[in-house]
Amino acid sequence: MSARLFLSPPHMSGEEQRLVAEAFASNYVAPAGEMLLAFEAAFSAYTGISHCVALASGTAATHLAVKLLGIEPGDEVWAATLTFIASIGPAVHEGAVPVFLDCDPETWTLDPLLLEEALAKAARVGRLPKAVIPTDIYGQSCDLDRIVALCDVHGVPVIADSAEAMGTRYRSRHAGDGARVAIYSFNGNKIITASNGGMLASHDRALVDRARYLATQARESVSHYEHRAVGFNYRLSNICAAIGVGQMRVLEARVERRCAIFARYQHNLSPLAGVSFMPEAPYGRSSRWLTVMLVDPAIAPATAESVRLALERANIESRPVWKPMHMQPVFAGARVIGGATAEEFFERGLCLPSGSAMSDGDVDRVSEIVLASCRAR
Ligand SMILES: *Cc1c(COP(=O)(O)O)cnc(C)c1O
Repeated sequence: MSARLFLSPPHMSGEEQRLVAEAFASNYVAPAGEMLLAFEAAFSAYTGISHCVALASGTAATHLAVKLLGIEPGDEVWAATLTFIASIGPAVHEGAVPVFLDCDPETWTLDPLLLEEALAKAARVGRLPKAVIPTDIYGQSCDLDRIVALCDVHGVPVIADSAEAMGTRYRSRHAGDGARVAIYSFNGNKIITASNGGMLASHDRALVDRARYLATQARESVSHYEHRAVGFNYRLSNICAAIGVGQMRVLEARVERRCAIFARYQHNLSPLAGVSFMPEAPYGRSSRWLTVMLVDPAIAPATAESVRLALERANIESRPVWKPMHMQPVFAGARVIGGATAEEFFERGLCLPSGSAMSDGDVDRVSEIVLASCRAR
């Protein structure tokens, strides 16, 4: 049997190893050094978001965002139900009450119409959320300007969970640009990686300075250890940042390859009735971090799960769409606004192997198995 084909493994360019060696040579084998500065500079240059701080993970970035916005026990935080748990986990750690909103079937991201209604209702009863966290899912931006405009009416800040959206465009901007604060992930399975790692970004310098301060144990700038707040140890290692610098250089090429992989799957599988793909929103460019297909068992003689099992038998990794947060046992009883659309995507959706190092032959091999399993009765 051939080597396992993973869903979205790291894809190094070769430069990273040289940059890591450079970091070693400088002896900044620590969460400080030139590579961190270079990584942040490359991020800001690429995204156009003026200020950023490189962190240990996207989850750490979200935790700092939650802290920066002053979210406290009992505050409501609203999030997309179709997401990864790290969108909402840090707010829950701070004692916030999560409320989940369904996604728009055309974009799979937080539904602005539902949000508008829910905010109006919340304003009437005087219980507005302390923050709204939309997710840019599978490389597709949420309709950020609309969401921010709706939240602005009520003075509610937006944290963009753009963890899956490095390289994604929203209108003429990078995904996340326009939120009060945006977070990104460089986890090993994302479109580019720093082995692990995250970024918090904003046009508000004071906010990002505060994040940097909290990320380094809230240490005051005096020679002894002086603290006016309790912070975290959340900075990224300079060694990991070196990997990130190398990856930023190839990000655009990685996005192009992911989009080409998506197009090839779509072409290969177009003869199949009952199989469709996650649409691209008209307002942006999806990075197609993962190719996601939907199987309609009423038309295709298959289910997302039967296709997954067929791929698994050939040593190919695929994965169901994110299980919505309101269906998670840990959030049983949480308020959900809508939810049926996300549930349907979870039932019918399958993420196909999408790593940018895949060859066209790999895509065709996966496609053959999908074709066979959706045709056979
Ligand atoms: C990956 C991911 C995160 C968390 O990022 P880490 O770097 O793994 O902590 C947060 N939100 C979403 C939607 C993600 O996909």
